Amino acid sequence: MKGLCVLGSTGSIGVSTLDVAGLHPDRYRVVALTANNNIDLLFEQCLRFKPAYAVVIDVRLATDLRSRLLTSGNDETEVLSGIKGLEEVSVLPDVDSVMAAIVGAAGLLPTLAAARAGKTVLLANKEALVMSGPLFMSAVTESGADLLPIDSEHNAIFQCMPVNYHAGRRAPEVRRIMLTASGGPFLRKGLNELHNVTPDEAVAHPNWVMGRKISVDSATMMNKGLELIEACLLFNMPPEKVEVVIHPQSVIHSMVDYVDGTVLAQMGNPDMRIPIAHAMAWPGRFDSGAEPLDLFSVKRLDFEAPDFERFPCLQRAYDAVRAGGTMPAILNAANEAAVSSFLDGGIRFTDIPDVINHCMNAIAVSRADTIDAVLEADQRARKSAEQYIARLS
Ligand code: NAD
Ligand code: MG
Repeated sequence: MKGLCVLGSTGSIGVSTLDVAGLHPDRYRVVALTANNNIDLLFEQCLRFKPAYAVVIDVRLATDLRSRLLTSGNDETEVLSGIKGLEEVSVLPDVDSVMAAIVGAAGLLPTLAAARAGKTVLLANKEALVMSGPLFMSAVTESGADLLPIDSEHNAIFQCMPVNYHAGRRAPEVRRIMLTASGGPFLRKGLNELHNVTPDEAVAHPNWVMGRKISVDSATMMNKGLELIEACLLFNMPPEKVEVVIHPQSVIHSMVDYVDGTVLAQMGNPDMRIPIAHAMAWPGRFDSGAEPLDLFSVKRLDFEAPDFERFPCLQRAYDAVRAGGTMPAILNAANEAAVSSFLDGGIRFTDIPDVINHCMNAIAVSRADTIDAVLEADQRARKSAEQYIARLS
């Protein structure tokens, strides 16, 4: 029986993780759940899974949750608050596996703490890895933690890697990684049409149901940009060996091209419970609750090259990974600030890459070998992005 901590249990990945955990009560015991502010859902999750700990970022909401749980007769869940609470639960002795499913930079410290403590890290929070890159990967190596990718593409690549592969190792028999991308909701839209798209149009992904931030990232293709950086780190590959392939059906979740010409692909319905169950059962397999793939309704699989002109964010991610140091953290922070402003009606969809360009040009890159250096780059980029956004709106 493994103890599970779900960071971000009220989000899209968090809910799917608990769906899978609920199918396997003989394999997983939920030890800790965390949320930013959705205490209604966290309350229901606490009643169902009876974790030893629940963390809410806001102190006042944590007090609310505590009294609601006591009133309902649940006195086995201790409610903590703040970032400190997140770090505390991710390193508990009873916790074996940590699902890192907080969105954005907010997930970095607890995810890194879990890696340093040698927990099995189930990594959905790609921003945490993109920001801290080599620092995160060395924490994994030094502690001997198992790092299992949840992002569907990286989980697919992991499944197609050589037998006994562990994240971070170089696999010389792999010639190239083919990272698939659906192309998002605006795959066929012209540049001039992109100017006026609304947040609701941007979050309407054709194949996947996800949180709002990652849905906008899919529409700008920054999601694939972040995933490119994620792939370089997880699989120890240079960016020129990671090729983005548009595959609108989202049935092949990525491919690995070997030196002998063999290409291995992982396929399945676009349902995040599949990579989640893979990582939770690894190195075995168990039921995810997902529907079996019906190839006769899929009918065909299409592939095309990405258009870097209409989707400049993807090019900026290649630039950032090549620049190295704190540049991926700058790219990520600028993107988070820009997406948040776009979702709030502050800037246009097509302003997002401009905000990122501005920050990447304005801020000096330094080495990213300490957490302070990473956090400082993140803060500088956010400030620079906010100033630029204020001039736009
Ligand atoms: P979401 O917005 O649905 O959920 C985010 C979770 O993080 C929530 O539980 C929320 O309470 C918590 N959270 C948000 N801000 C926080 C803060 N400041 N401090 C503490 N907790 C906070 O997001 P999601 O779609 O579930 O995505 C989560 C992560 O997984 C992201 O990094 C995303 O890129 C990655 N991911 C998601 C999918 C998907 O299908 N949804 C696929 C691949 C990767
Ligand atoms: Mg993905």
